[in-house]
Amino acid sequence: MPQLIILGSASAVADAKHENTHLAFVNEKRLLLIDCPGNPVVRMQQVGYDMTHRLTDLLLTHFHPDHVSGYPLLLQTLWLLGRSEPLHIYGLDFTLHQARRLFNLYDWETWTDLFPLVYHNIPEEEMFMALDADDLRLYTSPTSHYLPTLGARVELLSGQYSVAYSCDTRPCPAVTRLAQGADILIHEATGAHTGHTSAAQAGEVAQQAGAKSLFLIHYPVWNNDPTPLVDEARTGFDGEVRLAEDYQVVNI
Ligand SMILES: [Zn+2]
Repeated sequence: MPQLIILGSASAVADAKHENTHLAFVNEKRLLLIDCPGNPVVRMQQVGYDMTHRLTDLLLTHFHPDHVSGYPLLLQTLWLLGRSEPLHIYGLDFTLHQARRLFNLYDWETWTDLFPLVYHNIPEEEMFMALDADDLRLYTSPTSHYLPTLGARVELLSGQYSVAYSCDTRPCPAVTRLAQGADILIHEATGAHTGHTSAAQAGEVAQQAGAKSLFLIHYPVWNNDPTPLVDEARTGFDGEVRLAEDYQVVNI
């Protein structure tokens, strides 16, 4: 059974109970990781997955530390665990350029037998199909954040089930279109700051998109109780609303 796994839910400042936002989709043949703060190998182990040979695809949404700072550690961990399979890495030109620069700081050419890294440059087009394999489809659309950023839509079960993820963005028509009719919209709820979205606004986006349910993510946690955000989001959305929580596993 395919699964959606929330690996972290915090906005840029994490705390003891909430890692920075990242998530994964798993089916029989593919494991797609979206963003890489901290150490997702450890987090996936916590929910019963060994990513060493299973991780197939990594989407880097944008080059902010709370989304990509764990990238070199991920590669080193998989390498030390004996991975040989290629890893497909997707992102905008700017994101992949910076990710390569970050990795280059570790002189990886000296790492013996590093598994192949296959970079896929994604154009700044709406609903670009970045991946279509083994009954997992990944579409991306540019969002409206401080720097070039991608939102994502993942379709499973022959397109019968869809999950959209806003990534970091202010309320943005491209995300509304990306989330059209989605079973789950995972939307950021950092607050009504420049380049971000409040919970109430996330509810409005979910309503406009006709999403069936809304998971709030990337919410402030440091000395802050996020539970009132659920009621805020409900002011604009008729469907089910919940907070995405670390280690939450959704069977699809
Ligand atoms: Zn960001």
